[in-house]
Amino acid sequence: MSTGPSLKHLDVDVLPTLIVRTDTSQIISFEGTGFLLAPNLLLTCWHCVRAAPPENCSYTTKRPDDDRIHFLINIQQDENNTDLATANIPLLPGANLTLADSNYYEGTDVYAFGFPLLNVERLPGGDTQLALDFRYLKGYVTRVFWFDQPEFGRTMAYELDMSTPEGLSGAPLMKMGSREVIGVVFGSNEVTRITAFARVDPDTGEREPEVHKVMYFGLAHFTEALKKLTTGATRGLPLSEYLKEDFSNRRERYVFYVRGALVGSDARIELPCGCGTVRLWDPPHSTSDLFCSWCDSRFTIRGLMDGAAAVSTPEGIVPVIGTEKGLVIVDDGEEADDEEETFIPLKLGDRIGENFDPGSEPKAGPYVFFIKPGLIGSAHTIILPCMCKTVLRWPPPHDESALECRACGARFILQVVDGPADHVMTGDGSVKIIGANPEDLE
Ligand SMILES: [Zn+2]
Ligand SMILES: [Zn+2]
Repeated sequence: MSTGPSLKHLDVDVLPTLIVRTDTSQIISFEGTGFLLAPNLLLTCWHCVRAAPPENCSYTTKRPDDDRIHFLINIQQDENNTDLATANIPLLPGANLTLADSNYYEGTDVYAFGFPLLNVERLPGGDTQLALDFRYLKGYVTRVFWFDQPEFGRTMAYELDMSTPEGLSGAPLMKMGSREVIGVVFGSNEVTRITAFARVDPDTGEREPEVHKVMYFGLAHFTEALKKLTTGATRGLPLSEYLKEDFSNRRERYVFYVRGALVGSDARIELPCGCGTVRLWDPPHSTSDLFCSWCDSRFTIRGLMDGAAAVSTPEGIVPVIGTEKGLVIVDDGEEADDEEETFIPLKLGDRIGENFDPGSEPKAGPYVFFIKPGLIGSAHTIILPCMCKTVLRWPPPHDESALECRACGARFILQVVDGPADHVMTGDGSVKIIGANPEDLE
């Protein structure tokens, strides 16, 4: 595992577990630590989240640099009856934590990161404010042993020469120098030794009490237990198997394009979430609290005019729910007050160069160019300026295999667009349409 400079801080994915008042978001208490190993999946200890929260309160989490509070939904204990648990939250991981393949043994250097001994500060007005201070703790595995965990029975555990203060429960235990999670911190092991027996001094007759020496060791759930963790949030699979799923369609927020005439009608609208769950959106189609019941991601609805069948977004072409055939329009991904200004009616035609297999992995790109219809196959040489500032002159007969930058090796894809515009708004800003101006051609 490399820990290059591009990795985000651990506090992106290692998060505090908090109980807040549902109506006011006031923080009531801090319950432990949790962490993200996959999109929408928070892992923690069951003993941190199993108690029913007080009335009108809920378990939540938040990232330190983000004001949003996220409710933990679908809180579930590991089906193997261990002290591990999962919850769904609408967050994607960013700090590249991975699950260890195998168990580790005595002598392994480890560290943990979490939110022990957190302080809830009371402000003068009676409000509370959380001092979100993380701690980094390190040590090593002193032994792997059977631990009798009250209420959970015998469990294989890592004993650690490391302090694991209250609140660190649920924190990932990681192999030193990596972001490989090998276990989950759950408490400490107090080992008491009698160093002197009680006795009565024969000379003075004074009673001397028994002297105990207490040693504290950290405790963490064993790698094997974490790999086998199974809940509804892992779709009934052991965690190690679930993590092999394809998460590339997951988003923190989903935008659905819906035919405007359907919203407010008596139609049931199906909203397919990237997690695989289809949320049924029934009349009267309230947009408040619209989220996925499984992964908890937020949904945003954009109602579109009749005739728009698909939207070109920075992430690809997205169909409009409720319209089968019609125009493709472009959404630049920006929030707009006036939705209509976001959309320019454009008709997308062929994509050229997409299916050409260069035989080797392209070195950069592909870069997409927008081009007016009628130019490909004409007698014009088409001027394509690459991102690397090298210009490709693409001569007739416009052979797809020549759609490649000679300087940087990038592949080019040409998207034919028809319509009145000379620019397309994309996620990278305004892009000119090749052929809208004479200098694009020779
Ligand atoms: Zn979902
Ligand atoms: Zn180039």
